[in-house]
Amino acid sequence: MIYQGNAITVTRGGDDIATLTFDLQGESVNKLSSAVIAELEQAVKAIQAESGLAGLVLASAKEAFIVGADITEFQAMFGKGGEFLESMLHRVHGIFNAIEDLPFPTVTAINGLALGGGCEVLLTTDFRVMGDKAQIGLPETKLGILPGWGGCVRLPRLIGADNAIEWIAGGTQNRADAALKVGAVDAVVPGEQLEAAALDILARANAGELDYRARREEKMQPLRLGPIEQMMAFETAKGYVAGKAGPHYPAPVEAIKVIQKGAGEERARAQAIEAKAFAKLAMTEVAFNLVGLFMSDQVVKKKGGQFEKQARPVKQAAVLGAGIMGGGIAYQSASKGTPILMKDIKEEAIQLGLKEARKLFTKQVERKKLTPEQMAEKLANIRPTLTYGDFGSVDLVVEAVVENPKVKGAVLTEVEGLVGEETILASNTSTISITRLASSLKRPENFCGMHFFNPVHRMPLVEVIRGEKTSDAAVAATVAYARAMGKTPIVVNDCPGFLVNRVLFPYFGGFSQLMAQGADFQRVDKVMEKFGWPMGPAYLLDVVGMDTAVHAGEVMAEGFPERMGSLGGNGEKSAIQAMFENDRLGQKNDRGFYAYEEDRKGKPKKVSDEAAIALVKSVAKESREFSDEEIISRMMVPLCLETVRCLEDGIVGTPAEADMALIYGIGFPPFRGGALRYVDAMGVAAFVKLADGLAEELGPLYAPTEKLREMAAAGETFYA
Ligand code: NAD
Repeated sequence: MIYQGNAITVTRGGDDIATLTFDLQGESVNKLSSAVIAELEQAVKAIQAESGLAGLVLASAKEAFIVGADITEFQAMFGKGGEFLESMLHRVHGIFNAIEDLPFPTVTAINGLALGGGCEVLLTTDFRVMGDKAQIGLPETKLGILPGWGGCVRLPRLIGADNAIEWIAGGTQNRADAALKVGAVDAVVPGEQLEAAALDILARANAGELDYRARREEKMQPLRLGPIEQMMAFETAKGYVAGKAGPHYPAPVEAIKVIQKGAGEERARAQAIEAKAFAKLAMTEVAFNLVGLFMSDQVVKKKGGQFEKQARPVKQAAVLGAGIMGGGIAYQSASKGTPILMKDIKEEAIQLGLKEARKLFTKQVERKKLTPEQMAEKLANIRPTLTYGDFGSVDLVVEAVVENPKVKGAVLTEVEGLVGEETILASNTSTISITRLASSLKRPENFCGMHFFNPVHRMPLVEVIRGEKTSDAAVAATVAYARAMGKTPIVVNDCPGFLVNRVLFPYFGGFSQLMAQGADFQRVDKVMEKFGWPMGPAYLLDVVGMDTAVHAGEVMAEGFPERMGSLGGNGEKSAIQAMFENDRLGQKNDRGFYAYEEDRKGKPKKVSDEAAIALVKSVAKESREFSDEEIISRMMVPLCLETVRCLEDGIVGTPAEADMALIYGIGFPPFRGGALRYVDAMGVAAFVKLADGLAEELGPLYAPTEKLREMAAAGETFYA
């Protein structure tokens, strides 16, 4: 034994080969936390001190190789400032460089997932052999930072600048065949042959068959690129990546700049450039928020996993209604492998639902994600029907018929009589109380909400709504089914609008108030898009549909009359109502706040419409000018306050789940981390002051809760 720690052991084999094995005790995966890095430092020193070694293998005793640095340490670490960060990075560079400089050949046996720091450590060895099921990648830019442990220096020297840019700026996770193709690894073998293959490489290197010194030298030298190659690789990539990432996500472009600046430098200089850029990015709010988001996502996934463990699996599903949502649900279920019956009362609806599913599958075939045979197999998972014939053997039924409590009540009662005692019924209603819908059922414990977002195949969130009588088993089965469909379920309690729509409608309320005071909706859209939303509120209303918005707005007004009774803006007719009354329903009839024309690909393209502008003006009571900041506050404060209320009312369990639901359900700008993180970033006291100022003029939609005032006074935050 050369070294024994809590996460790392180094042993010496009979052939004088040392094996450094990562096996973090008490954890299911290996992570490079600061404690593990400290062990690595000791382990490498012990290897350096051992005489007569002929080679080193880096290996893992877990299923994954190393999943990365320990992200839970990031926020505290990033808060310590640039000098601290750079010195921390230099220390790790020192350890990694020491592995790279060992006086004998080295190889990594990549048995499973190797990401971030876990991928950077394997770049230090002379050779890499990879299990055929393993994946590697550098996803740091997705967290608003860049690979800071030598990844930006070693990877381009190993696989070329263009490939490295693709891996690093894209944050891609790469399969073994792709890694082999670009030269990131030297061989791919079945997992069980990994150790033998690694030892064989070392033996060949020691026998002079493989020139490990030359390989090593290549990683140390400046990148060999002519001026034209430089231009092609870096300038073109920067333009393309900047366009794709958008102005709020600087990390991918910064990473390219680091590769570029370091290209002409030797190892130490290039690493210093990387460290400086890392520290700069790590101290931004964007990195702080994206790291927070990662941790919140872990919370959501963990909760989902816990429910899944207790769930009775859904082997056969059914959906009632083959409309926009029912068709989407059938496609998604079939696509992920759960067979589903799709029932409607109209043959045309069924044909439309099937046509939509076929279209989505065909796109996958065109993109080479599916073979035509796989498409046929998946499509066969959808069984269309006009009758309840096979419903006796269904584990879970999603009801997605028209949004009408009477129709839904009748359909649910009918189906309850035809399914098994244990079958779960779930409604995709967007507004109707789950407890109320349950009141007509004999087995209300088997009933809950399963609220998908449109378009189903694209939107990751599913709200699982627990009614008063819903059992844990019903929630668990529904969560498990949503996960099997590739979605992210978040469990919430019942109330009008549940979590997401309850929070979205006060945002529309803010919009209506702005319209009532004469703001220009096209400017409001631009300001909110610049703030980071995928679309501004007027455009979003066109997508949702004015009829749906008015109808749901009524439900919200009934549920929360004191705040949302006059979401239209001071009890007068709102711009949204005016649109609705003038049959400007939005994209569904090609006119709403904007007019819609078909673009070259046949998709709706919005254009400015004088008639809509005049209509909005006709309901305005004033013609005030608003600054960008005022627009942002008037839109964001009601949304954030309602999120606070949902948390206080126990509609949602944790700040992490609330924020993730808004990001996954309505596209809340991820780099801002969610509504509660946004309040934290502003400071709870500053937020309360801002809201109070607005409430004076605009009323209860803007009034902070008592508990929030207490938090402000006590200097508390939503996140630790
Ligand atoms: P839709 O009008 O496109 O489809 C409803 C379908 O239900 C129609 O095909 C209709 O023929 C069918 N139907 C009516 N009565 C039926 C019955 N007794 N048995 C079987 N089928 C019946 O509506 P949609 O947009 O798909 O909405 C469906 C549900 O999903 C609603 O509750 C809605 O609030 C909810 N929802 C919609 C959206 C959205 O953006 N469209 C988003 C989330 C939730």
